[in-house]
Amino acid sequence: MSAVSVRDVTVAFEAFRVFDGLSLDINEGEFIVLLGPSGCGKSTLLNAVAGLLDVSSGQIWIGGKNVTWEEPKDRGIAMVFQSYALYPRMSVRENMSFGLRMAKTPKPEIEKRVNQAAETLQITHLLDRRPDQLSGGQRQRVAIGRALVRDASVFLFDEPLSNLDAKLRNELRVEIKRLHARLGKTTMVYVTHDQIEAMTLADRIVVLKEQKVQQIGSPDEIYRCPSNLFVAGFVGSPQMNFIKGRLKGGDNGLEFVSGKRRLPLVGYQFSQKQRADGEVVLGIRPEHLTVADVGTWSDFKIDVVEPMGADTIVWCSDAEGSLQVRTNGCKGSAPGQHLALGIDTTQVSLFAANTGERL
Ligand code: ATP
Repeated sequence: MSAVSVRDVTVAFEAFRVFDGLSLDINEGEFIVLLGPSGCGKSTLLNAVAGLLDVSSGQIWIGGKNVTWEEPKDRGIAMVFQSYALYPRMSVRENMSFGLRMAKTPKPEIEKRVNQAAETLQITHLLDRRPDQLSGGQRQRVAIGRALVRDASVFLFDEPLSNLDAKLRNELRVEIKRLHARLGKTTMVYVTHDQIEAMTLADRIVVLKEQKVQQIGSPDEIYRCPSNLFVAGFVGSPQMNFIKGRLKGGDNGLEFVSGKRRLPLVGYQFSQKQRADGEVVLGIRPEHLTVADVGTWSDFKIDVVEPMGADTIVWCSDAEGSLQVRTNGCKGSAPGQHLALGIDTTQVSLFAANTGERL
């Protein structure tokens, strides 16, 4: 049985239809990330699951129960918002216990749950402060704590880390992951436009674009086998290199050709039967290119070198255009230097130029 089941759901804002019949099953204990650029429909989907907006057609099931027309408070969910949504005049303790007090939970039980959640999130020393006496990171911990005390089986997060600086974001990200592991069977649905959050947190990522699901898969599947050009470009930083070209039948099988760049495609696993003369886009991640004296492609010149600490991004170009290489052994590289590129052909992706779909 799925923890959350979205069945053939359409949401309409007057004439504008979002998700024309979207279906998605989320397993118990799974960490699902809804990933995509602004406007792709992440929050709409999360709010439909939460019951904060009505679906026009289809059903939402949570914990084996059809909750399509249930109030948010009756869905067995807890939600954490980007804006924290704390009551400004209440203390942290009152904020965290508010839902339980409304539900008439006995006082000793409320105290126990609030103390436990505060301990888990290391905010015990803040329980008597008001939100305006807290930092952004502390406020978000309180917001998570308020969700935690509800003992819900499904947690919904709407961009919870977006208002925090990079260091805090990293810290809280790890803490959310730890929390998910500790809670065991709690299902988490997490909205973000940040592909690093998606890659590090998710069991499965749902990539959305223009209110349509582009791909559902583990972070590894999404990274290694993106189903189309959009997913390939959206996930991974620096971005995958894209090279337009054609497929030609060579002596040893298919070959990718783009100007004077040629690449034999020995062992490439085509996902569908491909005509040998189609226009294609070859995708190569920067870490699957190596800087070499003698390589698969030669006559490159370094344009820019970006040291990143652990590794270095080298921007280089030949007559056909520019490519990014991620390397950890490029000491002494300088703009203007000539080089060749080695290519890990087992890691490349091919897409049809006209549809953008993976081949
Ligand atoms: P962001 O990351 O910017 O929050 P999102 O991926 O969460 O974006 P949604 O807020 O779900 O996107 O919006 C999906 C689409 O629905 C967008 O095109 C948006 O303009 C539209 N939309 C959202 N809410 C409404 C509304 N109340 N009325 C009309 N259109 C809406």
